[in-house]
Amino acid sequence: MTENGLPALGSTDRTRVRRFPENASDDRDVLNAILDAGLMAFVAVTDDAGQPYILPVGYARDGDRILFHGSTGSRLFRSLAAGAPTCLTVTLLDGLVLARSAFESSMNYRSVMVLGSCTVLDGDDKATALRVISDFLLPGRWADIRQPSKKEDAATLVLALSLEEASVKISAGDPSDADEDVDRPIWAGHVPIREVFGEPIPDEAGAAFPVPDYVASWTR
Ligand SMILES: Cc1cc2nc3c(=O)[nH]c(=O)nc-3n(C[C@H](O)[C@H](O)[C@H](O)COP(=O)(O)OP(=O)(O)OC[C@H]3O[C@@H](n4cnc5c(N)ncnc54)[C@H](O)[C@@H]3O)c2cc1C
Repeated sequence: MTENGLPALGSTDRTRVRRFPENASDDRDVLNAILDAGLMAFVAVTDDAGQPYILPVGYARDGDRILFHGSTGSRLFRSLAAGAPTCLTVTLLDGLVLARSAFESSMNYRSVMVLGSCTVLDGDDKATALRVISDFLLPGRWADIRQPSKKEDAATLVLALSLEEASVKISAGDPSDADEDVDRPIWAGHVPIREVFGEPIPDEAGAAFPVPDYVASWTR
């Protein structure tokens, strides 16, 4: 158990990192930092026929849980809402690793995997969660935009997934070439990858207004 009463990261049988365990982290501050740097998660769900699907979703970290929303009309979201077991990942791709062999060529990343089942949020919890998701993905925007109507609210499922059972894996730095490859006359190293926001581009009617300060200040 950690200070906040949650199990240590990677401490359950199914979240213990076995492959390159030295790349695992049990630090919840590291987990939170990765989640706070991401914008998109992949959420897995298996349908009644046993077919797995992976849904890309925008999300927010809210303390020790992940929040995300979807359509009440979505078969897969309804399955998650009914408590289907899920696996959610968030991956920050940090670079391409160019080793001297194909075998050792790889990627640098910070990666989170969360296991569990989602809880449906309703009423005030749902309304608050929608604002938290907006504040996380589009900081400053919520106060400027029209709030959800009753119809829109009814069409929206808001789900929470606890960060109780999770793991973190990080790969960084240079390739790990085999000793016999190190002296080969080949360039090797890594190429960093960074996510950046471009210049905001208004739509036709939006061009009449200045870009809000909160948008102009978004950075990655
Ligand atoms: C961008 C990216 C690219 C990758 N490319 C490859 C590739 O091409 N080939 C390849 O074999 N592997 C790749 N990996 C690593 C891959 O995600 C697995 O960690 C690895 O394949 C070992 O899988 P396993 O089932 O043997 O892990 P195990 O160590 O047996 O998994 C046990 C538990 O460890 C945790 N865990 C495992 N992997 C991760 C992870 N990435 N993030 C968080 N928790 C994790 C989970 O809780 C899992 O249940 C990549 C990872 C990332 C993020």
